[in-house]
Amino acid sequence: MAARVIDGKAVAAAVRERVKVDVAAYVEEAGRVPALATVLVGDDPASEIYVRNKRRTTEEVGMRSVHHGLEAGIREEELLDLVRELGEDDEVDGILVQLPLPAHLDSDAVVQALNPQKDVDGLTPVNAGLLAHGTPGLVPCTPAGVMELLAHEGVELEGAEAVVVGRSKLVGVPVARLLLQANATVTICHSRTRDLDATCRRADVLVAAVGVPRLLGKASVKEGAIVIDVGMNRTEEGLVGDVDFDAVRPKAAGITPVPGGVGQMTIAILMHNTLAAAKAQAAVRAQR
Ligand code: NAP
Repeated sequence: MAARVIDGKAVAAAVRERVKVDVAAYVEEAGRVPALATVLVGDDPASEIYVRNKRRTTEEVGMRSVHHGLEAGIREEELLDLVRELGEDDEVDGILVQLPLPAHLDSDAVVQALNPQKDVDGLTPVNAGLLAHGTPGLVPCTPAGVMELLAHEGVELEGAEAVVVGRSKLVGVPVARLLLQANATVTICHSRTRDLDATCRRADVLVAAVGVPRLLGKASVKEGAIVIDVGMNRTEEGLVGDVDFDAVRPKAAGITPVPGGVGQMTIAILMHNTLAAAKAQAAVRAQR
C-alpha cells in the first residue's frame, strides 16, 4: 500500500493559527507587539523569497516585521555592528540573519554576534549548547518543525531506530539531538558514511537533510518506515527533495512531499520561536 502523504502545509497552518492566538493574548497582557528583525545581505532571489515569506507570516500572526536589506558588498564590521545593535534594542524580540551570506562574510562570526535570547534560528553556540544539554532554549526551526510533524502523525519514537542523513549545524545535528531526547536510537550519516543504503534501511524513521536531489531511493528505505524529506533542491524540474518520492512511497508508511512537507513548518516554528523569545525576555526584564 502506498504511504500516506504527510501534509506539512496543514500542520504548519495549525501551528501558525496557534501562534496567532498566543500572540493576541501576549499583546493584550504585555501591551506591546513582539517584533522579528530580518537581515538580508545581497539580492539572491531564493533568499529574497524566503525573507519575504517570513516577513509576511510575521505580520499575519500579529507581530511586527522590521527589515534590514543590505548591499551585497557590505563590510563584515558594519554587519556585526547592526547585529549587535539589534541585540540590544528592547523593541526587537527576534533576529534572523538570512543564510547563506556572501562569501566575503564570515557566517560563524555573524552568528556568534547574535544575542542568544533573540537567536530565533537557534544557531548560536549558547542555544546549540542548551540543546546538547537537553535544556529548553531556542531550537532551530526546521528540526523543531520535523519533530512537530512526527508528533502530529503520532509516530512512536521511544526505542525507534532513527537515521538522519546530514550533519549540518542547521538541520542534521539538531534534529538528531531532538530525536535522541525523544528516546529514539539515533544514527547520523554523512558524506563519508560507508554503506548509506544499508544504514538507512535500519530506520523506522528516516530524516533526509542532504541537499542532493533524490539521493535516497527504494533501496534506502525499510518497508513501513516514516520518511521525512528536509531537502529543498532547485532543479530544472523545479523544487525536489533528497528522497525519490515516487520510488519510496510504495514502500514507506508515511512520507513528506517536497514542496508541501517540511518547508512550511520552518516559518511556522520561526513564529513560535519569536513569541517564545519575546516572552522569555519580558520575564527577564520584569526581574530587573
Ligand atoms: P549542508 O549544510 O550542505 O549539509 C549537508 C549534509 O549532507 C552534510 O552533513 C553532508 O556531509 C551530507 N551529505 C552530502 N552529500 C552526501 C551524500 N552523498 N551522502 C551522505 N551524506 C551527504 O545542508 P543543510 O543546510 O543541512 O541542508 C540540507 C538540505 O535541506 C538542503 O537541500 C537544504 O536546502 C534543505 N533545507 C531545507 C529547509 C526547510 O525549511 N525545509 C531548511 C534548511 C535546509 P558532510 O558533513 O560529510 O559534508
